[in-house]
Amino acid sequence: MQLLKQDIKYLKGVGPRRAELLGAELGVRTVGDLLRELPYKYIDRSEVHKVCDLQDEMPYVQLRGKIVDFSEEGTGRKQRIRAVFTDGTGYVELIWFAGLRYVRETYKVEREYLLLGKPAIWNGRFSISHPELDKIEPGQEPQQLGLQPLYHTSERMKKAGISSRTMTQLVRTAFDAVGAQALPETLPAYLQEKHRLCSLTYALRTAHFPPSADALPAAMRRLKFEELFFLQLDILRYALGRQQKVRGLRFVRVGNMFNRFYHERLPFELTRAQKRVVREIRRDTGSGAQMNRLLQGDVGSGKTMVAMMACLLAVDNGYQACLMAPTEILAEQHLATLREQLGNLPVRVELLTGIVKGRARREVLEGVADGTVQILVGTHALIEPTVRFANLGLAVIDEQHRFGVKQRAALWNKNARPPHILVMTATPIPRTLAMTVYGDLDVSVIDELPPGRKPIRTIHYYENQTVKLFEGIRYQLSLGRQIYVIYPLIKESEKLSVQFVVQGYADIQKALPQYRVGMVHGQMRPQDKEAAMQAFKRGETHILVSTTVIEVGVNVPNASVMVIQNAERFGLAQLHQLRGRVGRGSEQSYCVLVTKRELSEDTRRRMQIMVETTDGFEIAEEDMKLRGPGDLEGTQQSGMPFDLKVANVVRDADLMVEARHAAAAVLQADPEQALPQNAPLWQRLDELKTDRKNFSAIS
Ligand code: ADP
Ligand code: MG
Repeated sequence: MQLLKQDIKYLKGVGPRRAELLGAELGVRTVGDLLRELPYKYIDRSEVHKVCDLQDEMPYVQLRGKIVDFSEEGTGRKQRIRAVFTDGTGYVELIWFAGLRYVRETYKVEREYLLLGKPAIWNGRFSISHPELDKIEPGQEPQQLGLQPLYHTSERMKKAGISSRTMTQLVRTAFDAVGAQALPETLPAYLQEKHRLCSLTYALRTAHFPPSADALPAAMRRLKFEELFFLQLDILRYALGRQQKVRGLRFVRVGNMFNRFYHERLPFELTRAQKRVVREIRRDTGSGAQMNRLLQGDVGSGKTMVAMMACLLAVDNGYQACLMAPTEILAEQHLATLREQLGNLPVRVELLTGIVKGRARREVLEGVADGTVQILVGTHALIEPTVRFANLGLAVIDEQHRFGVKQRAALWNKNARPPHILVMTATPIPRTLAMTVYGDLDVSVIDELPPGRKPIRTIHYYENQTVKLFEGIRYQLSLGRQIYVIYPLIKESEKLSVQFVVQGYADIQKALPQYRVGMVHGQMRPQDKEAAMQAFKRGETHILVSTTVIEVGVNVPNASVMVIQNAERFGLAQLHQLRGRVGRGSEQSYCVLVTKRELSEDTRRRMQIMVETTDGFEIAEEDMKLRGPGDLEGTQQSGMPFDLKVANVVRDADLMVEARHAAAAVLQADPEQALPQNAPLWQRLDELKTDRKNFSAIS
């Protein structure tokens, strides 16, 4: 339809100046854009309130009555008009700060108006600023208005006279021009039918001018589905394209190392979830396509074990594997775990980090280049150009949130044919977000913990409850357990963070003179930090006082209490990560959140969630609800291909799943994008993408 592509400035009531504003403020440039600019909410105008029934904090209300008095005050910018409005049951004050001339010329005393506005209490009485007033002609009843749409308008727009009401008028004008014609459909009939969606024309008309509140859900469902569907179609098409372009290395056999490890070395039974993920990895790596898999699993769920078995699979097929960790401590820990668990199996595992220097480094690099080093563990030192693999078949990236997209891409190029990639993260990503920001990676989830773990008990104390806190600590120490005490990293002042830790360290030493206390903070030399950490690991110190430096990956099964000081300063994801440091042995473990007494609503909720659940995914969902999806730790680096305007990744999770299935089905049935009934889909996707050129998918 030509009309939809028409420049908005030619629409009656717009013109060049307003067109410029609509473009700059809302991105509305064509008539089609305008029709897609939906109201952000609706005011129910079917009800008329009485002044005597007004309450504070009411949303928009309608009143019917008269203005009985006007007064003006101030000069210049301070100028304003006040009026007294009554419906016979009470009085409200009306106030205008702008557009005074219009008010003076238009509104008259003793005339009847239908008023719409948001009441607020001001100096002890109700006041409504900038109400909308519609004249009621004597003897003529105002028409039933139903739901009135409210549109986003900016300050600049308001100054130029484009109010929500103007927007309503413009949308009406546009629909008048469309007339009885149907708007071009973006979803083919078979999809509408299969997913019980109303037509685009009906959906848009209803969203702008709902005949009743009952009509809205169906219209909004259609519009949200469409948005989520195109999002998923884009992500999945990208993933498919990559699968076709890149031929993967084929791990055809399960060989000696994998089998011997499984039967001779594995010290425990794998959990069902671990087995499932191992199967998924075997399927991927044997398929001939390149694997790009995200492995999600809560802290302690046994991801490392799965990664190790994947590495052995590579080794069995004559390839090398590497395992990349975010910190040196973690890399060393992985190396130790791997060597210990492999025992006498003839697999050469080496370490490469920044502190491996000189001859040792040269030897490792040589072994990597000639293929005798079969598994290389390290930090991002692994991706330096000097590290040349003979034939890298698998790259595992642990704790993914510390690695950017670029670093992942660098690993691709470590082999002539890109290696399989397994990304592991313990930062639980809500299901719906995983389907968007990581939507092009296949996702495996380890959703059960090894048996015998007791859920960690979480307790919330206020900072003045130190007596109770120390009682608990003393008791656990008497049982031979170890304890972490964590202080927040204060962004604005590292010095302050250190002070907290040092003070805490002194307090604890004084309170518990018979126990040894260690300390780790950001201003210590790396080797001193390392020494303090190792002493704790070996059990030489009983308590470790620290800033969040130990957040990632430290494994001390004997530690059974995690005390988090100033817990109000931590986000949910971080609290959950920290808590995951305990509960690794079979003993009952505890997490104590210590906060000040005065807490904001949100903080109180955060503490409550921590006390109530240990399920990382539940916590991630709650976190997203509290903070909004854009703000989640570890996800900022990768944006979404489109901004969602109507749908919401949290509230519309089920619809997103449906839309993803629908998009996958379309791609499966029409991989060449050749079926005529799907033509509108690809066209619409192109349109959406030209609006947002800088879509950079995650590699
Ligand atoms: P993650 O990397 O997911 O945080 P790890 O792989 O480090 O978890 O495992 C945490 C601990 O649980 C390790 O000590 C590991 O040996 C142990 N573990 C892993 N899988 C199992 C299992 N199936 N049964 C018992 N213990 C397990
Ligand atoms: Mg781990």
